[in-house]
Amino acid sequence: MAKAKRAALVRQEPGVLLHRISQLVTMSGEPGARRGREMCHIGLIEDAAVLIRDGKVAAVGKTAEVLRSPWVKEHRAEVIELDCRGKIVLPGFVDSHTHPVFVAPRLIDFEKRVAGASYEEIAAAGGGIRSSIEGVRKSSEGKLADHVFSALRQAQSQGTTTIEAKSGYGLDAASEIKSLKAIRRAAREWQGTVVATFLGAHVPPPEFKQEPDKYVEVVCTEILPEVAKQKLAHFVDVFCERGAFSLEQTERILREADRHGLGTRVHVGQLTNTPLATILAHHPLSVDHLDCLEKADVAALVAGETVATLLPGANYFLATKKYPPARKLIDAGVPVALATDYNPGTSPTISMPLVLSLACTQMRMRVEEALTAATINGAAALELSDRKGSVEVGKDADLAFFELDDYRELPYWFGGNHCAAVMTSGRFADLF
Ligand SMILES: [Zn+2]
Repeated sequence: MAKAKRAALVRQEPGVLLHRISQLVTMSGEPGARRGREMCHIGLIEDAAVLIRDGKVAAVGKTAEVLRSPWVKEHRAEVIELDCRGKIVLPGFVDSHTHPVFVAPRLIDFEKRVAGASYEEIAAAGGGIRSSIEGVRKSSEGKLADHVFSALRQAQSQGTTTIEAKSGYGLDAASEIKSLKAIRRAAREWQGTVVATFLGAHVPPPEFKQEPDKYVEVVCTEILPEVAKQKLAHFVDVFCERGAFSLEQTERILREADRHGLGTRVHVGQLTNTPLATILAHHPLSVDHLDCLEKADVAALVAGETVATLLPGANYFLATKKYPPARKLIDAGVPVALATDYNPGTSPTISMPLVLSLACTQMRMRVEEALTAATINGAAALELSDRKGSVEVGKDADLAFFELDDYRELPYWFGGNHCAAVMTSGRFADLF
């Protein structure tokens, strides 16, 4: 796109009219997370137009309809028009689960895994999450912020406009606060929307390895209150798993988060089953991973509002061969979201298109279901579905443009990047 045109868009002049979009995926529908058959309804419009005013979507429809609208007729001369033939446009992806605050890849762990070691064997040998702790503790807030910002830029270059970002590699008061401040600093520089989550309860840090209860005490009485006081996070997350935190410890942290007015989300069922009913009684916004589920867990999810967030990038990278039971969940009527789980140990990808491809090929999600899961349902998991995740009048004009003719090509060309442009609140971002 010409530089002058981009500069004009940045100034938010009277309006921007995108027209002749080959396919527009609107995700229009009821507010909140979609479930069951609703997940197939993507609100597709061919030869579509979107009018954007003051950073919000002002009109959506067929090009001919939008051009006929009285406002466009009256102001057409002042509006910036962009011909979008040969492109598909979607709501920007909402990646509702990432761990971007780390400084180095875990290449030794990777080599061990390639040679056949399991996730738990690597953790027992001192690798895994604990090996990222030292890097975070030793780094300055500025250095961490640089790493987070670089991840945000990469995410944006693949169509993501809203992202959740967790702390969780500091695991002491100073380093967790520093990590959350690094997220805030990077978020201020980035054009998209960042939602921060405090994951102090990722694993017990080495100094509390023998006394995890004491670390839970520190999280609940020292770190979490400080995070809440400084308004550094929207959510609190806990890794409820063998080798991380027990159900009782998880519940204690969820109660404490609630007491401080923070929303919650839980990593659960990745390696072993934990009965979900107890966790769901705390009304977390999402439960994430869910590789190991029992029938009763599915029933408990169907009955509630919590979003089931699936992270197939981790299954791919850990070569678990078994993926979360997406079909069972969707067919039962559970609202499902998809996210990258971007992190240095188990899912070093920040590509939502790749996650879409894994969802379709490995979990048998329909393309339409995967798109719903990666946009409006991700937004619901972050309590943002009133502003994000669909292209509807009044919502933020956060859009992703792909150099493709058909939305089904998104998961089809796996490993490629066809994202041509990204817009947040009506402004184009510089992608590269
Ligand atoms: Zn995670």
